[in-house]
Amino acid sequence: MEHVGVIGAGQMGAGIAQVAALAGLRVSLSDISIEAAERGKAGIAAILDKQVGRGKLDAAQRDAAIGLIEPVADLSAMASAQIVIEAATEQEPVKRKIFAQLSEAVGKDVVLATNTSSIAITRLAQSVAEPTRFIGMHFFNPVPLMPLLELIRGLATCDSAVATARAFGERIGKQIIVAADSPGFVVNRILLPLLNEACFAVSERLASIQDIDTGIKLGLGHPMGPLTLADLIGLDTVVEILRVFQSDFGDPKYRPAPILLKMVEAGWLGRKSGKGFYDYSGAAPVPSF
Ligand code: NAD
Repeated sequence: MEHVGVIGAGQMGAGIAQVAALAGLRVSLSDISIEAAERGKAGIAAILDKQVGRGKLDAAQRDAAIGLIEPVADLSAMASAQIVIEAATEQEPVKRKIFAQLSEAVGKDVVLATNTSSIAITRLAQSVAEPTRFIGMHFFNPVPLMPLLELIRGLATCDSAVATARAFGERIGKQIIVAADSPGFVVNRILLPLLNEACFAVSERLASIQDIDTGIKLGLGHPMGPLTLADLIGLDTVVEILRVFQSDFGDPKYRPAPILLKMVEAGWLGRKSGKGFYDYSGAAPVPSF
């Protein structure tokens, strides 16, 4: 593997481009315009500059990585890539349009991957010619720091597409797990019920907000408690994902905890609104109730 395409130069796409270039791969990076792709590259350069400043990277490595990233306006620049990873905005029509254009612009042997968090891989695969080479590659944020990569097989995904995606993941140093195409894949499928159960525990007054977080943090070795994490993700996003699970699986066990719905109605969305299970208006977060 020596050349990859990355579509979408936002948070995730830039992170993927950064780790790929640091691993010595040539990266064609696109976005809605050449200027947006250039901005993505400039953001990566700024991050690598900081790392050089902190002595975590040497200047030659930075220059080599930056030299490998080429902002492109036309997807045909990705024709010689072994794999193209789409990390554009999470809207199905946007992704469908990108994949329709991409499958015209590159040959049938190029593996096409999406970093979607929620759209069914099997359904999105219908937007490309040769859906057997279509695969989900779910990275975690921030990409350079999070060691996991979930590969998601659509119904039609062939073994060689999985092997190519795996080769890319290994090349950038990720630990890989393979999941079937089902809402939430592995990590979010298991995380969301944990967060929801913590919310039920709050309303039952099983323990204080802080004690629930401390219990899970220290008892299970998690880096943060579930209520802190729910606040970080955004309580509205937590509700949205639980609703998708509830309707897609047709299983009431995913119903959002009533306290979660109340907090969202009140505009208590977590960190981004300044208040959720914790109040973030002071120097350090304190429990909201
Ligand atoms: P973002 O908003 O930071 O970046 C999205 C980028 O896509 C923007 O730069 C936008 O200009 C670009 N874009 C929009 N339409 C485009 C088009 N037609 N062609 C090319 N580029 C286009 O979003 P993000 O957080 O980087 O998320 C990108 C994808 O990654 C989404 O599918 C999201 O669900 C998924 N994801 C996000 C996270 C996360 O924590 N942020 C984690 C895992 C997966």
